Amino acid sequence: MQKKPVKILSSGPLLNIAHIVKGSRANGPGLRDVIWVQGCSRHCEGCQNLELQSHIRRYILPVSTLIGQIAARKDQIEGVTISGGEPLEQPAGLAELMEMVHELGLSTMVYTGFEYDEIYDSSNPQIQRILSATDILIDGPFILSKKTQSVPWVGSSNQRVICLTSRYSKNEIGEMDICVQECFIFPSVLGDFTIINTGIQQ
Ligand code: SF4
Repeated sequence: MQKKPVKILSSGPLLNIAHIVKGSRANGPGLRDVIWVQGCSRHCEGCQNLELQSHIRRYILPVSTLIGQIAARKDQIEGVTISGGEPLEQPAGLAELMEMVHELGLSTMVYTGFEYDEIYDSSNPQIQRILSATDILIDGPFILSKKTQSVPWVGSSNQRVICLTSRYSKNEIGEMDICVQECFIFPSVLGDFTIINTGIQQ
């Protein structure tokens, strides 16, 4: 049966989303909502999120819809983390989302396969907006030969936890009680389950 086209009911930037987990402790400081975007051109060997690499349409959501959901939980969470996939491949939507999350008073954390040195002076204004509205950037591709389980929030030792604002410091992060792995199980209307394992790869 042919799928009906998805109707978008509000205007503004869109994001192609694969998963959302509400209330994670393994993806940044404190309790966070985590959004995984769909699509990444990098194809790192050993990628933990292989199913998120292809640029297929998943859930095409207006940023305003996402912000509505986050705003409803703003007293319960410390912030929002964006993973993927490659978030910077959807710069317009991500810039809008990060700025609006900051306006809610919540912290922001973004994973990217780009190194910070490649993007910090980008001429793309959307990338500059993202960097200005990101508290913690986890940069660099996953490199299988450098896989580690000893650095909080990163999968390989080349990746860095970079504090881009004064909201967090490396010292403060070093003293945090960090959750390493979580498993979320979501029942479906069909009676089966979707399982999302998140955190540092074993
Ligand atoms: S950048 Fe991340 S999502 Fe993309 S292939 Fe590498 S590990 Fe996978």
